[in-house]
Amino acid sequence: MDRYAVIGNPIAHSKSPQIHAAFARQTGQTLSYEALLAPLDGFVRAVEDFRAEGGRGMNVTVPFKLEAFALSTRHTPRAELAGAVNTLAFGDDGILGDNTDGAGLVRDLIVNLGCTLGGRRVLVLGAGGATRGALLPLLDCRPATLVVANRSPAKADELVALFTPHAGRAALAASSFDALAGHGFDVVINATSASLSGALPPLPSGLYAPGALAYDMMYGRGDTPFMAAARTQGAARVADGLGMLVEQAAESFTLWRGVRPDTAAVLAELRRQLDAG
Ligand code: NDP
Repeated sequence: MDRYAVIGNPIAHSKSPQIHAAFARQTGQTLSYEALLAPLDGFVRAVEDFRAEGGRGMNVTVPFKLEAFALSTRHTPRAELAGAVNTLAFGDDGILGDNTDGAGLVRDLIVNLGCTLGGRRVLVLGAGGATRGALLPLLDCRPATLVVANRSPAKADELVALFTPHAGRAALAASSFDALAGHGFDVVINATSASLSGALPPLPSGLYAPGALAYDMMYGRGDTPFMAAARTQGAARVADGLGMLVEQAAESFTLWRGVRPDTAAVLAELRRQLDAG
């Protein structure tokens, strides 16, 4: 049986085994998918052992996405630009590293949430790994404006310089949080890790244009602080990152198996379980 796994530290909370098992059932694929806890200093060894035991591919999560990039012998263009890998595919000729996070985000926004990105004003908060993975897929949707704002402004500047050659006609710019006041974005994506600790980035007022969507990459039971604040500050709709999680998994599954699973039922079941606590 073909073996796959998600590797991280911590990993016990991961929903990836459940998601991929559902994809496999639905598409009639025979495979196993497990969660692997790697020691913080033992990522490469754990991957090599899994591969030597016949593993075909892995998802990679915190804190190993940069090490996965370094371990890959070739990269997809989106992983190359992101400098981070969340999907490994093992072949006879080496290890392909891909980054499906951004494609998962964009599919969730467009397909699941019915959001238009082309010609819109889009704001991404944060300049960490998740933003690096998201920028190319977002730019590929041809927004009118894409602003990256970060607590440490130099990191936003660095990302904007890196992605400017891929911006096409989009106005790609870096910003501090303060300078965002009154700019009125159509889509605001929280890609900071603030929600993980129950914190809210220090955002000014006037961020949301009429009809705007506020999207938090974090997911869990109920609203994150960012989502709760967005509701009171004028966002017409709010969403969490559960759909992104399912869609990035579907992108990985498609790369490995050559068949795209239907995500709607899997997302609905995960949502039901989350809401039930
Ligand atoms: P990183 O650690 O790489 O980056 C964290 C970012 O958050 C930095 O830009 C940091 O700013 C900023 N930040 C942290 N705390 C605060 C705060 N209190 N106020 C303002 N900014 C803050 O994290 P990732 O990019 O890997 O992940 C970001 C989020 O995306 C996480 O919540 C993660 O769970 C989520 N995610 C969700 C996925 C999904 O499938 N739904 C997939 C991948 C990620 P600074 O540079 O100033 O330190």
